[in-house]
Amino acid sequence: MQGKVALEEHFALEETLQDSAGFAPEADWPELKVRLLDIQDRRLREMDANGIEMMLLSLNAPAVQAIPDLKTATELSRRANDYLAEHVQRRPGRFKGLAALPMQSPIAATRELIRCVKELGFCGALTNGFTQIEGSDAAVYYDLKSYWPFWEEVERLDVPFYLHPRNPLPKDAAIYEGHRWLMGPTWAFGQETAVHALRLMGSGLFDAYPGLNIILGHMGEGLPYSMWRIDNHNKWMREQNRYPAKRKIADYFRENFYITTSGNFRSQTLIDAMLEIGSDRILFSADWPFENIDHASQWFDAAPIAEGDRTKIGRDNAWSLFKLG
Ligand code: MN
Repeated sequence: MQGKVALEEHFALEETLQDSAGFAPEADWPELKVRLLDIQDRRLREMDANGIEMMLLSLNAPAVQAIPDLKTATELSRRANDYLAEHVQRRPGRFKGLAALPMQSPIAATRELIRCVKELGFCGALTNGFTQIEGSDAAVYYDLKSYWPFWEEVERLDVPFYLHPRNPLPKDAAIYEGHRWLMGPTWAFGQETAVHALRLMGSGLFDAYPGLNIILGHMGEGLPYSMWRIDNHNKWMREQNRYPAKRKIADYFRENFYITTSGNFRSQTLIDAMLEIGSDRILFSADWPFENIDHASQWFDAAPIAEGDRTKIGRDNAWSLFKLG
């Protein structure tokens, strides 16, 4: 398929490069490094060769979210966003920006989001999971009430928010001890991000701000497959899930969430996701440079779905969600 849009596609600054080093074996690190630092060369050739018209670019992970010091996190966000804006400006028909945000402070994050959307022309934000904050060893999740003014602004600006994975903090990763292979994209990323998304759904956030659009990668981080059970568990018992939100979890999943195909190039999984959330809420993505663009594209272009669905997932949904026209 020609004209595809891909939206979980990353780059690194020299200073955030090392954050990605742990996700490649030593032998593959030189290749990953080159891919992360490139924007206008190899990346464009890969896009052209695989029918990708546009990429929405975001900083690698965890980067800003793993810097407890607010000032440092804020400065890094600004530098990364300014750098990205320069690259987008060189090829506005091929690249768009997703903002990195200093979520250490809801106020600083709001300010940077407004700057990115209004001054730099970015079309959304991508945050690498929970944030770390100076003076606390806890992971801070964005369902907390202190973040609601931030979400109010996200809704007002009407831009999507991509909740991208990161690994749990060591103190929250005891379950993986002795099984290091389960960290990262194998399992821990999805588990961590799915819980964060469920916290948002159950918190009542989407009752207060029904216009919010949250995007999850990796075919929804396992959530489509679990949606029925989350709402149904032990149905004969008198007391069901008690959470502040007013509606079923699946209602929020279907009305406030979009998912992408990033790093999960599997037709069986795509079809399940289509049955749960619908083809209007699925968007093509690769997860370059951690995944190959040709792997993503060759799979997607041949996936056994209707051509109308392919066009929506490959291009049209992104076009309208991000108002790319
Ligand atoms: Mn990614």
